[in-house]
Amino acid sequence: MTILQLENVTKTYPGGETALREADLAMEAGEFLVLLGPQGSGKSTLLRLVGGLDDVTEGILRIDGKTANDLTPKERDIAMIGQNQSLPAQFTVYDNLAYGLRLRKVPEDIVDREVRAAAAVFGLGELLGRRTKTLPVETRQRVLLARSLVRRPKLFLFDDPFNHLDEALHARMCAELAKLHVRLDASFVYATEDRAEALALGTRVAVMNAGRIEQVGTPLELYDAPASLFVADYLGALNKLRTVRVEGNTVHADGFTAVLPQAAERDGEAVFAVRPEDIRPEASFAEAHPETSFRACVTGEEPIGPDRLLHCETLGETPWSFDVRTASEGEFPGERTFAFDGTRILLFDAKTGESLLKRA
Ligand code: ADP
Ligand code: MG
Repeated sequence: MTILQLENVTKTYPGGETALREADLAMEAGEFLVLLGPQGSGKSTLLRLVGGLDDVTEGILRIDGKTANDLTPKERDIAMIGQNQSLPAQFTVYDNLAYGLRLRKVPEDIVDREVRAAAAVFGLGELLGRRTKTLPVETRQRVLLARSLVRRPKLFLFDDPFNHLDEALHARMCAELAKLHVRLDASFVYATEDRAEALALGTRVAVMNAGRIEQVGTPLELYDAPASLFVADYLGALNKLRTVRVEGNTVHADGFTAVLPQAAERDGEAVFAVRPEDIRPEASFAEAHPETSFRACVTGEEPIGPDRLLHCETLGETPWSFDVRTASEGEFPGERTFAFDGTRILLFDAKTGESLLKRA
Protein backbone atom coordinates (compact mmCIF):
# COMPACT_ATOMS: atom_id res chain seq x y z
CA MET A 1 0.00 0.00 0.00
CA THR A 2 1.37 3.40 -1.00
CA ILE A 3 1.10 5.62 2.05
CA LEU A 4 2.72 8.71 0.54
CA GLN A 5 3.07 9.84 -3.03
CA LEU A 6 4.42 13.05 -4.54
CA GLU A 7 3.81 13.64 -8.21
CA ASN A 8 5.79 16.42 -9.79
CA VAL A 9 5.54 18.53 -6.63
CA THR A 10 7.05 22.01 -6.69
CA LYS A 11 7.11 24.53 -3.87
CA THR A 12 7.83 28.19 -4.51
CA TYR A 13 7.74 30.42 -1.44
CA PRO A 14 6.01 33.81 -1.64
CA GLY A 15 9.46 35.42 -1.67
CA GLY A 16 10.08 33.70 -5.01
CA GLU A 17 12.47 30.99 -3.84
CA THR A 18 11.77 27.54 -5.30
CA ALA A 19 12.64 25.19 -2.46
CA LEU A 20 11.36 21.98 -4.05
CA ARG A 21 11.41 21.17 -7.77
CA GLU A 22 9.31 18.57 -9.56
CA ALA A 23 9.63 16.03 -6.78
CA ASP A 24 8.45 12.49 -7.49
CA LEU A 25 8.36 10.06 -4.62
CA ALA A 26 6.38 6.98 -3.65
CA MET A 27 6.56 5.43 -0.21
CA GLU A 28 5.04 2.14 0.89
CA ALA A 29 3.44 1.75 4.30
CA GLY A 30 5.98 0.46 6.82
CA GLU A 31 9.01 2.06 5.21
CA PHE A 32 11.62 4.07 7.07
CA LEU A 33 12.35 6.66 4.41
CA VAL A 34 15.20 9.08 5.06
CA LEU A 35 15.54 12.44 3.30
CA LEU A 36 19.28 13.07 3.14
CA GLY A 37 20.81 16.32 1.94
CA PRO A 38 22.76 19.40 2.99
CA GLN A 39 21.20 22.39 4.66
CA GLY A 40 18.85 24.23 2.30
CA SER A 41 18.28 21.24 0.01
CA GLY A 42 14.52 21.24 0.69
CA LYS A 43 14.07 18.51 3.31
CA SER A 44 12.03 20.59 5.77
CA THR A 45 10.00 22.05 2.91
CA LEU A 46 9.06 18.57 1.73
CA LEU A 47 8.04 17.54 5.25
CA ARG A 48 6.04 20.73 5.76
CA LEU A 49 4.14 20.11 2.52
CA VAL A 50 3.31 16.55 3.56
CA GLY A 51 2.30 17.66 7.05
CA GLY A 52 0.12 20.42 5.65
CA LEU A 53 2.02 23.29 7.28
CA ASP A 54 2.60 24.79 3.84
CA ASP A 55 0.77 24.62 0.50
CA VAL A 56 1.99 22.76 -2.57
CA THR A 57 2.56 25.25 -5.43
CA GLU A 58 2.29 22.68 -8.22
CA GLY A 59 1.83 18.94 -8.46
CA ILE A 60 -0.15 16.35 -6.54
CA LEU A 61 0.37 15.10 -3.02
CA ARG A 62 -1.37 11.87 -2.04
CA ILE A 63 -1.61 10.44 1.45
CA ASP A 64 -2.94 6.95 1.81
CA GLY A 65 -4.18 7.02 -1.80
CA LYS A 66 -6.15 10.26 -1.44
CA THR A 67 -5.25 13.63 -2.90
CA ALA A 68 -4.20 15.69 0.10
CA ASN A 69 -3.21 19.05 -1.41
CA ASP A 70 -6.16 20.81 0.21
CA LEU A 71 -6.52 18.82 3.44
CA THR A 72 -5.89 20.54 6.76
CA PRO A 73 -3.04 19.15 8.91
CA LYS A 74 -5.63 17.60 11.22
CA GLU A 75 -7.40 15.80 8.37
CA ARG A 76 -4.09 14.28 7.24
CA ASP A 77 -3.61 12.30 10.43
CA ILE A 78 0.15 12.78 10.49
CA ALA A 79 2.54 13.32 13.40
CA MET A 80 5.36 15.80 12.93
CA ILE A 81 8.31 15.73 15.29
CA GLY A 82 10.43 18.78 14.67
CA GLN A 83 13.79 20.28 15.40
CA ASN A 84 14.31 21.74 18.85
CA GLN A 85 10.70 21.01 19.60
CA SER A 86 9.70 21.90 23.11
CA LEU A 87 7.03 20.65 25.46
CA PRO A 88 4.68 22.80 27.52
CA ALA A 89 6.81 22.93 30.67
CA GLN A 90 3.98 23.23 33.19
CA PHE A 91 2.16 20.18 31.85
CA THR A 92 2.72 16.82 33.44
CA VAL A 93 3.94 13.97 31.25
CA TYR A 94 0.41 12.56 31.41
CA ASP A 95 -1.21 15.78 30.17
CA ASN A 96 1.35 16.11 27.42
CA LEU A 97 0.60 12.62 26.18
CA ALA A 98 -3.16 13.13 26.50
CA TYR A 99 -3.18 16.50 24.73
CA GLY A 100 -3.72 15.32 21.13
CA LEU A 101 -6.51 12.93 22.02
CA ARG A 102 -8.33 15.43 24.24
CA LEU A 103 -8.13 17.93 21.39
CA ARG A 104 -10.01 15.37 19.32
CA LYS A 105 -12.56 14.94 22.11
CA VAL A 106 -11.72 11.29 22.64
CA PRO A 107 -13.47 9.87 25.77
CA GLU A 108 -11.25 10.01 28.88
CA ASP A 109 -11.21 6.26 29.48
CA ILE A 110 -9.74 5.69 26.01
CA VAL A 111 -7.33 8.60 26.53
CA ASP A 112 -6.16 6.96 29.73
CA ARG A 113 -5.63 3.58 28.07
CA GLU A 114 -3.70 5.05 25.12
CA VAL A 115 -1.56 7.33 27.30
CA ARG A 116 -0.54 4.44 29.54
CA ALA A 117 0.24 2.21 26.54
CA ALA A 118 2.47 4.84 24.90
CA ALA A 119 4.16 5.63 28.23
CA ALA A 120 4.97 1.95 28.66
CA VAL A 121 6.61 1.77 25.22
CA PHE A 122 8.95 4.61 26.18
CA GLY A 123 9.60 3.65 29.79
CA LEU A 124 7.65 6.67 31.05
CA GLY A 125 5.16 4.72 33.20
CA GLU A 126 6.65 5.92 36.49
CA LEU A 127 6.93 9.53 35.33
CA LEU A 128 3.36 10.31 34.28
CA GLY A 129 2.81 12.67 37.21
CA ARG A 130 6.05 14.63 36.70
CA ARG A 131 6.15 18.07 35.11
CA THR A 132 8.17 17.92 31.88
CA LYS A 133 10.44 20.82 32.88
CA THR A 134 11.83 18.72 35.74
CA LEU A 135 12.95 15.93 33.39
CA PRO A 136 16.36 15.42 31.77
CA VAL A 137 16.71 16.11 28.01
CA GLU A 138 16.70 12.45 27.10
CA THR A 139 13.44 11.83 28.92
CA ARG A 140 11.85 14.88 27.34
CA GLN A 141 12.77 13.43 23.92
CA ARG A 142 10.96 10.27 24.92
CA VAL A 143 7.90 12.27 25.93
CA LEU A 144 7.92 13.97 22.51
CA LEU A 145 8.03 10.62 20.76
CA ALA A 146 5.42 9.07 23.03
CA ARG A 147 3.15 12.07 22.52
CA SER A 148 3.19 11.56 18.74
CA LEU A 149 2.63 7.86 19.21
CA VAL A 150 -0.49 8.16 21.35
CA ARG A 151 -2.83 9.01 18.53
CA ARG A 152 -1.42 6.36 16.17
CA PRO A 153 -1.07 8.54 13.11
CA LYS A 154 -0.83 7.12 9.57
CA LEU A 155 2.56 8.63 9.05
CA PHE A 156 5.35 10.04 11.22
CA LEU A 157 7.50 12.92 9.97
CA PHE A 158 10.77 13.59 11.79
CA ASP A 159 12.65 16.78 10.95
CA ASP A 160 16.18 16.13 12.20
CA PRO A 161 14.78 15.66 15.72
CA PHE A 162 18.00 14.77 17.55
CA ASN A 163 20.28 17.21 15.79
CA HIS A 164 20.89 19.33 18.92
CA LEU A 165 21.69 16.38 21.21
CA ASP A 166 25.23 15.36 22.08
CA GLU A 167 26.73 12.47 20.15
CA ALA A 168 26.10 9.68 22.66
CA LEU A 169 22.50 10.68 23.29
CA HIS A 170 21.95 11.18 19.58
CA ALA A 171 23.13 7.63 18.91
CA ARG A 172 20.89 6.23 21.67
CA MET A 173 17.80 8.05 20.39
CA CYS A 174 18.46 6.85 16.82
CA ALA A 175 18.76 3.28 18.04
CA GLU A 176 15.46 3.64 19.93
CA LEU A 177 13.78 5.08 16.89
CA ALA A 178 14.91 2.17 14.73
CA LYS A 179 13.52 -0.28 17.27
CA LEU A 180 10.30 1.68 17.54
CA HIS A 181 9.84 1.57 13.78
CA VAL A 182 10.05 -2.19 13.81
CA ARG A 183 7.81 -2.57 16.85
CA LEU A 184 5.06 -0.24 15.57
CA ASP A 185 5.32 -1.36 11.96
CA ALA A 186 4.75 2.35 11.25
CA SER A 187 5.66 4.59 8.31
CA PHE A 188 8.49 7.04 9.06
CA VAL A 189 9.93 9.88 7.01
CA TYR A 190 13.08 11.25 8.63
CA ALA A 191 15.14 14.24 7.46
CA THR A 192 18.85 14.57 8.21
CA GLU A 193 22.10 15.99 6.87
CA ASP A 194 24.04 13.12 8.38
CA ARG A 195 24.98 10.37 5.97
CA ALA A 196 25.90 7.80 8.62
CA GLU A 197 22.56 8.34 10.32
CA ALA A 198 20.69 8.06 7.02
CA LEU A 199 22.40 4.83 6.03
CA ALA A 200 21.91 3.31 9.48
CA LEU A 201 18.22 4.19 9.80
CA GLY A 202 16.74 4.22 6.31
CA THR A 203 15.20 1.24 4.59
CA ARG A 204 15.34 3.64 1.66
CA VAL A 205 17.04 7.00 1.32
CA ALA A 206 16.09 9.95 -0.89
CA VAL A 207 19.12 12.13 -1.56
CA MET A 208 18.22 15.80 -1.97
CA ASN A 209 20.24 18.57 -3.55
CA ALA A 210 19.12 22.15 -4.20
CA GLY A 211 15.42 21.34 -4.11
CA ARG A 212 15.67 18.20 -6.22
CA ILE A 213 15.41 14.56 -5.28
CA GLU A 214 18.56 13.24 -6.97
CA GLN A 215 18.02 9.55 -6.27
CA VAL A 216 15.91 7.25 -4.14
CA GLY A 217 17.19 3.83 -3.22
CA THR A 218 18.34 1.46 -0.53
CA PRO A 219 21.60 2.50 1.15
CA LEU A 220 23.41 -0.19 -0.85
CA GLU A 221 21.93 0.91 -4.18
CA LEU A 222 22.97 4.50 -3.54
CA TYR A 223 26.49 3.50 -2.57
CA ASP A 224 27.04 1.01 -5.38
CA ALA A 225 25.23 2.73 -8.22
CA PRO A 226 24.95 6.46 -7.52
CA ALA A 227 22.89 8.24 -10.18
CA SER A 228 24.96 11.40 -9.89
CA LEU A 229 28.31 12.72 -8.75
CA PHE A 230 26.49 14.55 -5.94
CA VAL A 231 25.06 11.30 -4.56
CA ALA A 232 28.40 9.48 -4.90
CA ASP A 233 30.20 12.28 -3.09
CA TYR A 234 27.60 12.64 -0.33
CA LEU A 235 27.57 8.94 0.44
CA GLY A 236 31.22 8.45 1.23
CA ALA A 237 34.90 9.10 0.57
CA LEU A 238 35.52 9.40 -3.16
CA ASN A 239 38.62 9.90 -5.30
CA LYS A 240 37.74 12.17 -8.22
CA LEU A 241 39.56 13.06 -11.40
CA ARG A 242 38.31 15.77 -13.75
CA THR A 243 38.72 15.37 -16.64
CA VAL A 244 39.26 12.03 -18.27
CA ARG A 245 38.54 11.02 -21.87
CA VAL A 246 36.14 8.15 -22.44
CA GLU A 247 36.09 5.98 -25.56
CA GLY A 248 33.61 3.12 -25.38
CA ASN A 249 34.66 1.12 -22.33
CA THR A 250 38.11 2.68 -22.05
CA VAL A 251 39.07 5.60 -19.81
CA HIS A 252 42.16 7.59 -20.76
CA ALA A 253 43.73 9.76 -18.07
CA ASP A 254 47.09 11.41 -17.63
CA GLY A 255 48.44 8.74 -15.29
CA PHE A 256 46.53 5.61 -16.37
CA THR A 257 44.31 3.85 -18.86
CA ALA A 258 41.51 1.67 -17.51
CA VAL A 259 39.30 -0.74 -19.42
CA LEU A 260 35.85 -1.11 -17.84
CA PRO A 261 33.56 -4.16 -18.02
CA GLN A 262 30.88 -1.97 -19.61
CA ALA A 263 30.85 0.94 -22.05
CA ALA A 264 29.84 4.45 -20.98
CA GLU A 265 26.62 6.00 -22.28
CA ARG A 266 28.66 8.24 -24.50
CA ASP A 267 32.24 9.07 -25.48
CA GLY A 268 34.09 12.29 -24.62
CA GLU A 269 35.11 14.11 -21.47
CA ALA A 270 33.90 12.85 -18.12
CA VAL A 271 34.55 12.92 -14.39
CA PHE A 272 36.20 9.72 -13.16
CA ALA A 273 35.53 8.60 -9.58
CA VAL A 274 36.44 5.60 -7.47
CA ARG A 275 36.18 4.89 -3.75
CA PRO A 276 39.38 4.36 -1.72
CA GLU A 277 38.49 0.72 -1.02
CA ASP A 278 38.07 0.03 -4.76
CA ILE A 279 41.72 0.69 -5.61
CA ARG A 280 43.93 -2.25 -4.66
CA PRO A 281 47.64 -2.10 -3.77
CA GLU A 282 48.42 -5.84 -3.73
CA ALA A 283 50.72 -7.07 -6.52
CA SER A 284 48.59 -10.19 -6.98
CA PHE A 285 45.46 -8.13 -7.68
CA ALA A 286 47.28 -5.93 -10.19
CA GLU A 287 48.68 -8.99 -11.98
CA ALA A 288 45.19 -10.45 -12.27
CA HIS A 289 43.80 -7.13 -13.56
CA PRO A 290 46.19 -5.71 -16.18
CA GLU A 291 43.21 -3.91 -17.81
CA THR A 292 43.02 -1.47 -14.89
CA SER A 293 46.55 -1.53 -13.49
CA PHE A 294 48.76 1.57 -13.30
CA ARG A 295 51.88 2.84 -11.59
CA ALA A 296 51.75 5.30 -8.71
CA CYS A 297 53.70 6.36 -5.66
CA VAL A 298 52.67 5.99 -2.02
CA THR A 299 53.47 9.27 -0.27
CA GLY A 300 52.10 8.55 3.19
CA GLU A 301 49.61 6.56 5.20
CA GLU A 302 47.29 6.82 8.20
CA PRO A 303 45.24 4.32 10.18
CA ILE A 304 41.44 4.39 9.86
CA GLY A 305 39.77 1.92 12.16
CA PRO A 306 41.16 -1.52 11.46
CA ASP A 307 42.30 -0.42 7.96
CA ARG A 308 44.92 1.90 6.55
CA LEU A 309 44.53 4.83 4.21
CA LEU A 310 47.42 5.16 1.76
CA HIS A 311 47.98 8.61 0.25
CA CYS A 312 49.15 8.17 -3.33
CA GLU A 313 50.06 10.05 -6.51
CA THR A 314 50.21 9.01 -10.15
CA LEU A 315 53.43 9.56 -12.07
CA GLY A 316 51.98 11.65 -14.93
CA GLU A 317 52.87 15.22 -15.86
CA THR A 318 50.20 16.52 -13.50
CA PRO A 319 50.06 13.89 -10.75
CA TRP A 320 46.63 12.81 -9.54
CA SER A 321 46.40 12.48 -5.75
CA PHE A 322 44.19 9.67 -4.53
CA ASP A 323 43.65 7.59 -1.40
CA VAL A 324 43.59 3.82 -1.14
CA ARG A 325 41.88 2.09 1.75
CA THR A 326 43.32 -1.33 2.44
CA ALA A 327 42.87 -4.02 5.06
CA SER A 328 45.99 -5.76 3.73
CA GLU A 329 48.82 -6.40 6.18
CA GLY A 330 51.52 -5.74 3.56
CA GLU A 331 54.00 -2.87 3.40
CA PHE A 332 53.47 -0.57 0.43
CA PRO A 333 56.28 1.97 0.32
CA GLY A 334 57.33 4.03 -2.73
CA GLU A 335 56.43 3.36 -6.33
CA ARG A 336 54.30 0.32 -7.17
CA THR A 337 51.55 -1.06 -9.40
CA PHE A 338 47.94 -0.53 -8.33
CA ALA A 339 44.75 -1.68 -10.00
CA PHE A 340 41.19 -0.40 -9.94
CA ASP A 341 38.34 -2.78 -9.29
CA GLY A 342 36.88 -2.10 -12.74
CA THR A 343 33.34 -3.08 -11.72
CA ARG A 344 33.36 -0.29 -9.11
CA ILE A 345 34.61 2.61 -11.24
CA LEU A 346 32.15 5.52 -11.61
CA LEU A 347 31.90 7.95 -14.53
CA PHE A 348 29.85 11.14 -14.57
CA ASP A 349 28.92 13.78 -17.09
CA ALA A 350 31.15 16.78 -16.40
CA LYS A 351 28.32 19.29 -16.90
CA THR A 352 25.23 17.63 -15.43
CA GLY A 353 26.94 15.28 -12.97
CA GLU A 354 24.74 12.41 -14.16
CA SER A 355 26.15 8.90 -14.17
CA LEU A 356 27.40 7.66 -17.55
CA LEU A 357 27.22 4.03 -16.43
CA LYS A 358 23.71 2.68 -16.15
CA ARG A 359 23.96 -0.26 -13.79
CA ALA A 360 21.19 -2.72 -13.17
P1 ADP B 1 16.57 21.93 4.57
O1 ADP B 1 15.52 21.50 5.53
O2 ADP B 1 17.06 20.84 3.67
O3 ADP B 1 17.69 22.64 5.24
P2 ADP B 1 14.62 23.90 3.70
O4 ADP B 1 13.45 23.18 3.16
O5 ADP B 1 14.51 24.44 5.06
O6 ADP B 1 15.91 23.00 3.55
O7 ADP B 1 14.95 25.12 2.74
C1 ADP B 1 15.05 24.99 1.34
C2 ADP B 1 15.19 26.37 0.73
O8 ADP B 1 13.98 27.09 0.90
C3 ADP B 1 16.27 27.20 1.39
O9 ADP B 1 16.95 27.92 0.39
C4 ADP B 1 15.51 28.12 2.31
O10 ADP B 1 16.15 29.35 2.44
C5 ADP B 1 14.19 28.30 1.59
N1 ADP B 1 13.07 28.48 2.54
C6 ADP B 1 12.71 27.64 3.53
N2 ADP B 1 11.62 28.10 4.17
C7 ADP B 1 11.29 29.27 3.57
C8 ADP B 1 10.23 30.25 3.77
N3 ADP B 1 9.30 30.08 4.72
N4 ADP B 1 10.21 31.32 2.94
C9 ADP B 1 11.13 31.48 1.95
N5 ADP B 1 12.13 30.61 1.72
C10 ADP B 1 12.21 29.53 2.51
MG1 MG C 1 15.55 21.57 7.59
